[in-house]
Amino acid sequence: MVHALHRDPDCIFCKIIAGEIPSKKVYEDDDLYAFHDIAPWAPVHFLIVPKEHVESMVQVGAEHAALLGRILLLAPRLALEQGCNPYPEGGFRIMINTGTEGGQEVPHLHVHVMGGPRPWSFGRTQ
Ligand code: AMP
Ligand code: ZN
Repeated sequence: MVHALHRDPDCIFCKIIAGEIPSKKVYEDDDLYAFHDIAPWAPVHFLIVPKEHVESMVQVGAEHAALLGRILLLAPRLALEQGCNPYPEGGFRIMINTGTEGGQEVPHLHVHVMGGPRPWSFGRTQ
């Protein structure tokens, strides 16, 4: 059944999901959208977001458990497809910044996936 997902008209990631702001798409299905980060920290750096506007990990509830599970299951597959080297020599980093002190700049839940050969030359390697 098609149902309207909650979106925030002022949210940059909701606009990306709707195609109102361009992005370099990595993956899309009914519930999830993935796209390259505009300011990559690593040779491979993309974001996986729920299409539903959920602000952060703090607003996540039990109803989102399957969605979060799907994001985490998708991450390793997309990481390899996008050029991360195989585990264990390769691998990738998954990061979910939450709140201002957590480094979150965009208030629409997003999962960073970063990888590729080191050093990551963008100065934010911690
Ligand atoms: P965070 O600091 O965890 O909220 O991450 C937000 C990320 O979104 C940053 O890494 C930005 O580079 C990225 N970002 C912001 N605007 C865009 C955009 N229009 N397209 C792709 N990535 C973006
Ligand atoms: Zn949003």
